[in-house]
Amino acid sequence: MAKLILNHVAKDFATGKPAVTALSLDVREGGFLALLGPSGCGKTTVLRMIAGFETPSDGSIHLGERLLADASQSLPPERRNMAMVFQSYALWPHMNVAGNVGYPLKVRGIAGETYHRKVRDALSTVRLADYAERRPADLSGGQRQRVALARCLVTSPDVVLLDEPLANLDRHLKQEMEETFREFHQRSGATMIYVTHDQSEAMALATDVAVMSEGRLLQVAPPAEIYARPEGRMVGGLIGRGAILTARSPIGDRRDFDWKALQAVIAGKPGEGPKIDMLVRPEDVLLGGEGIPATVESVLYEGERYALKLALEDGQMLRAFSRTAVQAGDVLKVAIRAAWRL
Ligand code: ADP
Ligand code: MG
Repeated sequence: MAKLILNHVAKDFATGKPAVTALSLDVREGGFLALLGPSGCGKTTVLRMIAGFETPSDGSIHLGERLLADASQSLPPERRNMAMVFQSYALWPHMNVAGNVGYPLKVRGIAGETYHRKVRDALSTVRLADYAERRPADLSGGQRQRVALARCLVTSPDVVLLDEPLANLDRHLKQEMEETFREFHQRSGATMIYVTHDQSEAMALATDVAVMSEGRLLQVAPPAEIYARPEGRMVGGLIGRGAILTARSPIGDRRDFDWKALQAVIAGKPGEGPKIDMLVRPEDVLLGGEGIPATVESVLYEGERYALKLALEDGQMLRAFSRTAVQAGDVLKVAIRAAWRL
């Protein structure tokens, strides 16, 4: 195993707009990277280039010292020692669980004690050791997906590639599978790249999140870092909840500046300096104490709290949480205790 390195990778299908542009990215060995971005931004294309189903138009892909592909040569998928899990995970209905999991070993001519040991290990990694003799039809949806994971793990791939594997599942099964993926990663030690358009899935699962938009990589960082310090409006708007306020401000610091000075600016006191964008997270908006007036525009009940959309006097929007019930039209005092300059 080794680090996966994408260096200035591009893919142009000659459709007038490149699918991927100058993408550079290191995925550390044993890491769990989520590739996050809206539909059509190039995520699947990146995954297919890593797997070897597409050749880059430019740049190079290495696994450690080994060149996997550049614009003039490309190692075929079966020689890359990677496994790709798709949204639909077809299991053979006539084979039992062990037969399904062992299938890739059979194809490679592995038999005997090695075969049985690898199948047992793969099944115990996904906690299905007692299900070897069952048929797929006798399993739950979550168990079937775990069989599919065991099958991709059985050949000890260096890298496991997952393309929106949970996109079609209901919420309950999705949560169960998120746990399975996390556990699978911890127990297998495999390097994983997980494509999704769902930011909460990316944040919950991955050790690092890479945000893409229109074929370009915008930022790569651990989930907490990308939440606290997003680079630019696009990442700020895509990750987590929050509101982006614009003000003319002399404030130079990027976080935790004096909120009274900030509020004076937001409240319309003419500031000096350039116009800046500030991301304000709902948990940094305090309600009911000292502050500036804001009108409740909408209320979403979330069980343990209410998620509010608030309008400031100058028309800019804020988001906030309230533990007590409020109604649209109420006027509250709000204090912003921190913001992040985008
Ligand atoms: P995502 O997975 O993020 O939804 P894709 O990688 O599937 O995005 O697609 C990125 C862009 O490349 C889209 O505009 C898509 O239409 C285009 N694209 C993907 N594959 C091909 C192909 N084989 N031929 C032409 N265009 C393609
Ligand atoms: Mg896709």
